[in-house]
Amino acid sequence: MSFASLGLSAPIVEVVAAQGYKTPTPVQIQAIPAIIKGRDVMAAAQTGTGKTAGFTLPILETLCKGRSAQANQVRVLILTPTRELAAQVGDSVATYGKNLPLCSAVVYGGVKINPQMMKLRRGVDVLVATPGRLLDLHSQNAVKFDQMEVLVLDEADRMLDMGFSDELKKILALLPRQRQNLMFSATFSDEIRKLAKSIVHNPVEISVNPRNTTATTVEQWLTPVDKKKKPALLTQLIKDNNWQQVLVFVRTKNGADRLIRHLESEGINAAAIHGDKSQGARTRALAEFKKGAIRVLVATDLAARGLDIDQLPQVVNFDLPDVANDYIHRIGRTGRAGARGRAISLVCADEIDQLKAIERLIKQLLTRKLIDGFEPLHDVPPSRLDTRPIKPKKPKKPKQAKAARGEAQSTAAKTQSPKPKSRKSPIQKNQSRKLKNGKPPGMKKRQG
Ligand code: AMP
Repeated sequence: MSFASLGLSAPIVEVVAAQGYKTPTPVQIQAIPAIIKGRDVMAAAQTGTGKTAGFTLPILETLCKGRSAQANQVRVLILTPTRELAAQVGDSVATYGKNLPLCSAVVYGGVKINPQMMKLRRGVDVLVATPGRLLDLHSQNAVKFDQMEVLVLDEADRMLDMGFSDELKKILALLPRQRQNLMFSATFSDEIRKLAKSIVHNPVEISVNPRNTTATTVEQWLTPVDKKKKPALLTQLIKDNNWQQVLVFVRTKNGADRLIRHLESEGINAAAIHGDKSQGARTRALAEFKKGAIRVLVATDLAARGLDIDQLPQVVNFDLPDVANDYIHRIGRTGRAGARGRAISLVCADEIDQLKAIERLIKQLLTRKLIDGFEPLHDVPPSRLDTRPIKPKKPKKPKQAKAARGEAQSTAAKTQSPKPKSRKSPIQKNQSRKLKNGKPPGMKKRQG
């Protein structure tokens, strides 16, 4: 199966080849032709499956055939729950579109709004945005949706977990009825299916991982250990196994900072990404980690969601997450795009409830491995698989949701119920776009 046979044309196929992609991934095989046909798509695909290219490549393909964006207009809106994911998706759009006469921009909170308003002035073909900042920009008339053709919701489950459902409703109410809708989510809970009903119309359903299961290329086990001994155990594991690139998940920002101090005192290069770090510090830490200058990246769930780190061999759950679903997201960072990975959880006696919830969600008991010298004094009781079905969660109240994101919203957008959706994308109806001198000038990413 080749990328060209999925309906992608030469400039895109060339870029994909330059990225070293030899064959399309399963989600790409299913999503690309459907999106080019103008169908709505609802896809259960984790980070690591190649989902970003799965929606970006066909969108770019069809965008070239339409009218370019007018002042402050946006033709494709990609909504992501976190800034990091927005930045990564924005980078992918710019990379995949570099041979095309299109321009893209990325906007998220936590940084100055003025440069973002400047970027949007002349209009952008593809805008990647987090919901709060998008509403702020709209309330200041910096972004308009009259020309909008495609809406993408990336990591929709995370968007709901983070309490963005009110913002989503506001955004949906601002968008034109005629548009194509693409919804991607790591898991498809009943809550997500409910949201999907108000967004996608007669979608092509794609599932590349069975519902609520973890990627099969990931070897997972847990090591019972006393809480106090976790830092020493992690250090020993890193040194004994000579791990060069480890992503370590912790539950709290303080916990992340404490662990960094410990690792550094042991001579291990480490950096943290969490909500108290500035956007610049987070981006720097991620870049250093990717290029191997930092051996250990310690992250909270919120900060790490959707991080694209190629073929990460090793993930450690230093603490188990409070929300069982986060376990699936965490270990989705390893065993990416067919590569094998390992996910190890350090579990103390206090975490038995979280462990039970995770095992219930993934429908399997995690193998236990004791490590010499770290046998716990406080036993982690053996777990028994709870096979009762899991009830859908109630959505968070707006106040709780804002606190969870550590973010305040200011927006003048009115709340309305979502409008009915179109069956066909307007980009299907658009005329072919003429290229200057027969050559596309290349996709521009507007800088602030
Ligand atoms: P994503 O699931 O979008 O986060 O993508 C995960 C990683 O897979 C990214 O680093 C992509 O560069 C890579 N990737 C995407 N498509 C392919 C492909 N067809 N072959 C190999 N790698 C790919």
